[in-house]
Amino acid sequence: MPDVLIVGAGPVGLLLAGELVSRGVEVELLEKRPATGAGSRAIGVHAPVLRALEDSGTTEALLADATRVGRGEARAAGRLLGEVRFDRLSTRFPFVATLPQAATEAVLSARAPDPLRGATVWSILPRGDAVHVRYGHAGRPAEASAPLVVVAGGSASRDLVFRPDAVRMHQYRDTYLMTDAPAPGTAPADLAVIHLDRRGVLESFPLPGGRRRYVAWDAPGADPDPAARVERLRTALAERGEAEASDSVTAAGAFGVRRVVAPRLRNGRIFVIGDAAHEVSPIGGQGMNLGLLDAATLAPLLAGWVRSGVAPQAALQRWEQRRLASARTAARLAGVNTSLGRSLPTLVDGMRRLAVRAMLTRPLDRGFARAYSMGLDRDA
Ligand SMILES: Cc1cc2nc3c(=O)[nH]c(=O)nc-3n(C[C@H](O)[C@H](O)[C@H](O)COP(=O)(O)OP(=O)(O)OC[C@H]3O[C@@H](n4cnc5c(N)ncnc54)[C@H](O)[C@@H]3O)c2cc1C
Repeated sequence: MPDVLIVGAGPVGLLLAGELVSRGVEVELLEKRPATGAGSRAIGVHAPVLRALEDSGTTEALLADATRVGRGEARAAGRLLGEVRFDRLSTRFPFVATLPQAATEAVLSARAPDPLRGATVWSILPRGDAVHVRYGHAGRPAEASAPLVVVAGGSASRDLVFRPDAVRMHQYRDTYLMTDAPAPGTAPADLAVIHLDRRGVLESFPLPGGRRRYVAWDAPGADPDPAARVERLRTALAERGEAEASDSVTAAGAFGVRRVVAPRLRNGRIFVIGDAAHEVSPIGGQGMNLGLLDAATLAPLLAGWVRSGVAPQAALQRWEQRRLASARTAARLAGVNTSLGRSLPTLVDGMRRLAVRAMLTRPLDRGFARAYSMGLDRDA
């Protein structure tokens, strides 16, 4: 029997597994996907995560593949509204490291045991001093037990631990178009650009290999046809003066946004972390980082429990309070970003520009740079 069984080998489950194994804990990872996913979601890794993973060498490995984004500019109709200067923050890593989520997962996999792939967990039940897990694998039912179980299976695994009505969810009406594409001759490689005008937000983030991620607010109910999406994203870029980038777009995904913060992260020997416990709008890019900090801060507590056989109750309670408070803060910030990024009538858009200008002027600008790089997280 492993000491800790982890459900889900996404970035959060992989990090927790690696952190536990490096502390001498026996871990089993169950993952329903037969292979790692190719698509990219999270691209930004923030300073508090880089600092938390420095001692293990994970930060060095992430940075070897990453682009360092030191600055962000907010623009409207080609004019500069203000700047966010991560490079002026007094932190050990004064930048946002960008790399595709698959690359982050590859780095985290190197320290984690191989997951049992194609294993879909169906139920988790506490039984005395152990937790019993039922799952399907290779078309057959299977069972496993462990003294401690951590659910890190993303939003799809929330029902394993919470009744559907126990977790409040807010579905925003906004949807966005997104692509990662080559970026010939556009902004410098350390600069993120946020275009904000009456058509809504268009974000352009640097990625390694001369690519950029483009995310554009999309009108509710717009045509879901893939070719129509590509056309709208190209138009959104061209209208903001990014003609070359517009030509390089050949595919466009779409995503909606939700806000979820679970009421609890622990029930006895069962824990829930990452997107399984909280979802925040990707507009602001903190969801994966929140989960990685859940994992990095939980690992020493679980390892201590396994070593001593005694639950560190007070430390676990403080951990749960800190992580829930951090998730609520990130969700509020992401909510503000989502509201700020909507298409608005010209007059209200003018007021928004004034507000953004004020936010990004001294002395407020430093506070916003801190907030946007997860400096408000309780474990930052
Ligand atoms: C478009 C987009 C852009 C984003 N950009 C950013 C960003 O820039 N920065 C950021 O911090 N965050 C970002 N996010 C959020 C980020 O992708 C998630 O927060 C992150 O992937 C959560 O990691 P996780 O490991 O908790 O869950 P997941 O990544 O969802 O991984 C969970 C894993 O568990 C497995 N699983 C699920 N159910 C079961 C089961 N029953 N049994 C076994 N296995 C199971 C799944 O197959 C999956 O592999 C973005 C999200 C989106 C959609």
